[in-house]
Amino acid sequence: MFDLLNLPGVKPVDFRGEGGVITIVAEALDVDLPQCPQCARPLYRHGKRTNLFADTPMQMQPVRLEITRPRYRCDTCGKTLTPELIFLDERRRATKRLVDAIRQRCLWMTFHSLAQKTGLAVNTIKNITQDLIEELEQTVRYETPVIMGIDEVNLAGDYRCVITNLSTNNIFQILKFRTKDYLKPFFEKLHDREKVEWVFTDMWRPVNESFSAYLPNARLVIDKFHVVKMASEALEEERKKYQSILTKDERLHVKKSIRWLTLKRPASLTPAEHAALEIVRQSIPALAEAYDFKEAFYRIYDDPDKSSAKWAFEAWENTLPENKLERFHSLAKTVHNHYEDIFAYWDSPSQITNAYTECLNGLIKIANRMGRGYSYEIIRAKTLYAKHARKVGNGVRLATPSLDTVSTRGIVETVEYGPHIPTLIEIAEAGGLE
Ligand SMILES: [Zn+2]
Repeated sequence: MFDLLNLPGVKPVDFRGEGGVITIVAEALDVDLPQCPQCARPLYRHGKRTNLFADTPMQMQPVRLEITRPRYRCDTCGKTLTPELIFLDERRRATKRLVDAIRQRCLWMTFHSLAQKTGLAVNTIKNITQDLIEELEQTVRYETPVIMGIDEVNLAGDYRCVITNLSTNNIFQILKFRTKDYLKPFFEKLHDREKVEWVFTDMWRPVNESFSAYLPNARLVIDKFHVVKMASEALEEERKKYQSILTKDERLHVKKSIRWLTLKRPASLTPAEHAALEIVRQSIPALAEAYDFKEAFYRIYDDPDKSSAKWAFEAWENTLPENKLERFHSLAKTVHNHYEDIFAYWDSPSQITNAYTECLNGLIKIANRMGRGYSYEIIRAKTLYAKHARKVGNGVRLATPSLDTVSTRGIVETVEYGPHIPTLIEIAEAGGLE
């Protein structure tokens, strides 16, 4: 019979196809009688033993190997043994090549479809995946970011903590939750902790309270994104109040564009939106006033100088009318509550200005494209260890030669920064993360 198995030490002797499963009957090739590992005396044949192992699918059908091996027995100590076949993973009851094929796919396919294709139990697939994830956890190491972003993104049904490298636009780590219970051990175990110079995040206090003891050189910055977002939300609140006041005719003109007034800067308004804004100015001056406060708040960030930005904020706050525009008043309060960390933005590296927003928007895009029905652990591994997003030119860069990276043999080692967010988005948009 033609050796369709191509596995060392066995030859196929029969072949059955039944119930959508291909069974290949194989026999171990004759070997010299082995010695007893304990007594070093020759062993004697002692019957045969037949076991079933799953192998890589053929013609889209699961394959089972029915392998018959001789058993041997030692007359002196009574030990019996069955010769090992190097291509078998005895623990998984499968060939190693099948286990490898599953490891290649288990982060990209559901456990159920892999179980169906291979004939293995769902639990076996889960265990193989678990082993792979643990192995990746031990072996994959990303370079500690100098400028670190800490965000919350909805993954697998809950808000997860995503830690990014803002200088390279890579994901560095994902934690189950953004609480001290998860953040503190993360910072405590972080290698090269002294490398971190900046931590960009929002107003969530546990972040600051978790890292300050562990990162000796890091300074917290509450990113502009989260601060100006509050101004947009404040305007949005006012818009909802007034939307119903408009006449039907006005609403037709304004409805479509009015929402954009809350989100867009004047420079990016279309002529139609400008016209809508004018209608709002005439018919609802109070809403136009709110719009102007939102715009004035955004302009604080246009100021490149820290002390004049502080002045601009003070002027803005002083002109807020009393007893109205409540959300703008609470925005002012928030700024005071986080004053140093919000204005630390002006001390931070200028190249990072848009990196944080881009990073966060990218993460949200990826999260929205993530397949449903996966556990958090799988989604985390899919994202964090995505092979294609870690390839050279994206996630992996050659480190600039320095004492750290040029080994004594003069070999430049590659430094990995983690999965590259724009590449992950491409993969996600092509359906690769579903
Ligand atoms: Zn023996």
